[in-house]
Amino acid sequence: MVTTTTDYIERVMEAVKMRNPGEQEYHQAVGEVLDSLRAVIDKNPEFEDAAILERIVEPERQILFRVPWQDDKGKVQVNRGFRIQFNSAIGPYKGGIRFHPSVYIGIIKFLGFEQIFKNSLTGLAMGGAKGGSDFDPKGKSDSEVMRFCQSFMSELFRHIGADTDVPAGDIGVGGREIGFLFGQWKKLTTLHNGVLTGKGLAYGGSLARTEATGYGCVYFCDEMLKESKNSFDGKTVVVSGSGNVAIYAHEKATQLGAKVVAMSDSSGFIYDKNGINLDTIKQLKEVERKRIKEYTKEHKNAQYTEGCSGIWNIKCDIALPSATQNELDGNAAKTLVKNGCLAVAEGANMPCTPDAVKVFLDNKIQYGPGKAANAGGVATSGLEMAQNSQRLNWTFEEVDEKLHRIMVNIHRAAKEAADEYGTPGNLVNGANIAGFLKVAKAMMAQGLV
Ligand code: NDP
Repeated sequence: MVTTTTDYIERVMEAVKMRNPGEQEYHQAVGEVLDSLRAVIDKNPEFEDAAILERIVEPERQILFRVPWQDDKGKVQVNRGFRIQFNSAIGPYKGGIRFHPSVYIGIIKFLGFEQIFKNSLTGLAMGGAKGGSDFDPKGKSDSEVMRFCQSFMSELFRHIGADTDVPAGDIGVGGREIGFLFGQWKKLTTLHNGVLTGKGLAYGGSLARTEATGYGCVYFCDEMLKESKNSFDGKTVVVSGSGNVAIYAHEKATQLGAKVVAMSDSSGFIYDKNGINLDTIKQLKEVERKRIKEYTKEHKNAQYTEGCSGIWNIKCDIALPSATQNELDGNAAKTLVKNGCLAVAEGANMPCTPDAVKVFLDNKIQYGPGKAANAGGVATSGLEMAQNSQRLNWTFEEVDEKLHRIMVNIHRAAKEAADEYGTPGNLVNGANIAGFLKVAKAMMAQGLV
């Protein structure tokens, strides 16, 4: 019986669904990548012979652990910890840690799987991993967050290391959490090294790491816009979220001459037709840890709307979804298209549903998928690792310049792969193919491990 590439890809997809039941986000992430790889598998039958797809969808190692901690009232709480070391073909495992009540194994797997290709696209030597917990830092005191982080690291430390697995932040894990995690790592191992990225500047962090994902997303989007002889200058932008990625996407877009008119958190969104004041957002979110609703107390022109999805009804030229997965669906995408949106670049991981992506591609909207557009964060984490190894600190300008160059290169690699494999302009296919090829070749070279 002759088997075709389609048979092979469908067989792998079916096996993923059977072996990972109920993990919808993971199925979605794998489905998107496999769908992009048809032409690659056609051209490289040796990948099927070596079962590269079967191997790449199976994490190398999955670590699940108990995280007990005591709250401020003395009550014992128990959360679940995860670290999925997905693929180390091209470098040590690398990927963030997420603390959010929605975290379960399917979320960590989807993020770890995407991370393989994203890290490959950066051109740096980093494998793919992800970790996290269903712990919710919201409403917890600093002491509670510290005790949780210490307990989390008390198990994680035996599985990570500067040359084996280097975690970083993600949703719910910022500078405060990385500090507590690093402190416990140092206490348990006596090592002061680059085992985590996103560290504070006083103890081994890199300048521009905080800004990197948001800046990188805007650099990537700018490259897309150049293709259509456009730029950020004078454009109206909507950024969802108001966390690390969203804040610095706003900052760079504004520096490039755009006006950001809407931002959100998980409760609702604000709209300010004059442009959202970023200093107020930074104060509310980075310093006071308050809800975005509070913005309207200081800016009377701004309107607050309860619920997040309505943010995509706001007319804009450029949309930068930067909050969370599946936050922009097919209907929202149709609304953006109807309102004349030119470009969408994903600051978050998988924020657009498959229906939404189809709408963008069908309507020839310039669309930058997360694994390319938000790769600036992990790329700069790679630069932090390089600085830690050298015991040197580069200036903000040096790091930012390297980040910019990496984003330009990622855009070029995705575009060229899309062209070469017969889907010009489709950066979803391009990013998946370019990211996959390097990892697949490394896996082939290293034999059956
Ligand atoms: P933060 O925790 O700093 O901010 C997350 C933002 O998204 C907050 O405004 C949060 O609102 C909102 N949000 C979170 N969950 C939901 C939800 N279920 N529905 C609606 N809004 C939600 O995280 P980051 O900015 O670091 O991460 C944002 C996205 O970017 C994630 O997808 C992450 O994986 C991705 N990413 C992050 C990188 C980084 O370097 N930090 C690198 C690459 C990708 P609220 O405060 O109300 O929860």
